[in-house]
Amino acid sequence: MKLIYEKSIKGRIGFSMPEDRFEDINVKDCIPEYALSKEKKELPEVSEVDVVRHFTTLSKINYGVDTGFYPLGSCTMKYNPKINEKLANLEGFTFAHPLADIKHFQGSLELMYELEQLLKEITGMDRFTLAPGAGAHGELVGVLIMGKYFEDSGKPRHKMIVPDSAHGTNPASSAMAGFKVVEVKSNERGTVDIEHLKSLMDEDTAGIMLTNPNTVGLFETDITEITKIVHGKGGLLYYDGANLNALLGIVRPGDTGFDIVHLNLHKTFSTPHGGGGPGAGVVGVKNHLIEFLPSPIVCKCDDFYSLEYPKKSIGRIRAFFCNFSVLVKAYAWILSMGKDGLKEAARVSIINANYVLSKLKPYYRPAYDRFCMHECILTGRDYKEYGIKTLDIAKRLMDYGFHPPTIYFPHFEPYAHETIMVEPTESESKETIDEFINAMIKISKEAIENPELLKSAPHSTPIRRADETKATREPILKFEEK
Ligand SMILES: *Cc1c(COP(=O)(O)O)cnc(C)c1O
Repeated sequence: MKLIYEKSIKGRIGFSMPEDRFEDINVKDCIPEYALSKEKKELPEVSEVDVVRHFTTLSKINYGVDTGFYPLGSCTMKYNPKINEKLANLEGFTFAHPLADIKHFQGSLELMYELEQLLKEITGMDRFTLAPGAGAHGELVGVLIMGKYFEDSGKPRHKMIVPDSAHGTNPASSAMAGFKVVEVKSNERGTVDIEHLKSLMDEDTAGIMLTNPNTVGLFETDITEITKIVHGKGGLLYYDGANLNALLGIVRPGDTGFDIVHLNLHKTFSTPHGGGGPGAGVVGVKNHLIEFLPSPIVCKCDDFYSLEYPKKSIGRIRAFFCNFSVLVKAYAWILSMGKDGLKEAARVSIINANYVLSKLKPYYRPAYDRFCMHECILTGRDYKEYGIKTLDIAKRLMDYGFHPPTIYFPHFEPYAHETIMVEPTESESKETIDEFINAMIKISKEAIENPELLKSAPHSTPIRRADETKATREPILKFEEK
């Protein structure tokens, strides 16, 4: 398929209007000088039908949650009700201008305020900022708050503990906020090695960034012990709640001792993750950290919603308020699910993952043979003797019509060796999950009987095996005329 730039024909235009109607209009009278572009932009010159066909074709060869099952572990790429998109598109929301006087968008502020109350109840935290635009952005806000808290106490701390199984954004956020990252090991059960943590935690350590269930889909059963160790040395606990699917309505991070949490509304709360946004990595804190929250936050006084600027705020972390449409979808989803519905979603997501794990266990040895949360880790280790890598298994899944799952966690050997992480989510039916399981079983047989079939997969996609290293290092972002 050609790039739209390759379809460009000099002088071809996509619209026509009677020229004489615009004869006496001077562009400079309509558009301020600074907004006028100085040089001519190189845009593709194509007709309307060229544009429509180009993008419709692209959308047809794309794969998404609306076309099939997306078992991408650690991503919660679940199908979300379309009604929530519709609500986010209501004109009262989409036309609200962030520079307007706040008395003109009381409804939007009310929604933000009410959503915050719900998130507080779901997580057990005392106050939220809704501003961060992604999970990693929320993490950065969280660790900056930790830094400021210690600075304010007169005893700044310089280290941050992050488990080896953590999402890559955790060490990155800590480092960006100026902390020295210290890695705590996992044990053979896939959870934090308590003795190692004890030996690392000291009075120069701000705290720990932890995910529970952790990034290998397991519940940190020693969380009370971890809390004691970290709080015991005056440290803070940061909860990476990007994947809240397994906990909704069952466990609240605030009750297990966490001081700060971030949630990815664009995973669990009705906005699909992926595609580069928009997202919302909202951050909740306990009372002792409210004064450090980024400004402004929404408050309510005598039924009037306004903005509050916390006293020792880490400052502003973005323009305007937040990715508002994501908040509308989260609010609508929480209300339509209700308390029991949220709990049911979490339970079904856990049941589905354990169903996949138990059915595929005989074919793909699990990394940890124990009860999992909302996602499970299988491995393709037993097929190495046939020259098959886990990557080949994932590629072959595309031929069966499934999006390949998450594979490999390079910084987390040996447990992560040749791993496949499956997160079925609560949105999929038993029939769909069974189809996936059957495809995986068929592939395990192919791996033994016809390994070449896997090594050259996928066979059914427009692009077969892309050179991923080249694609990352030398991306073609611009069409150069030859
Ligand atoms: C997805 C994810 C993140 C990062 O979220 P982004 O919105 O992609 O920045 C952080 N931690 C965990 C555990 C995640 O799964």
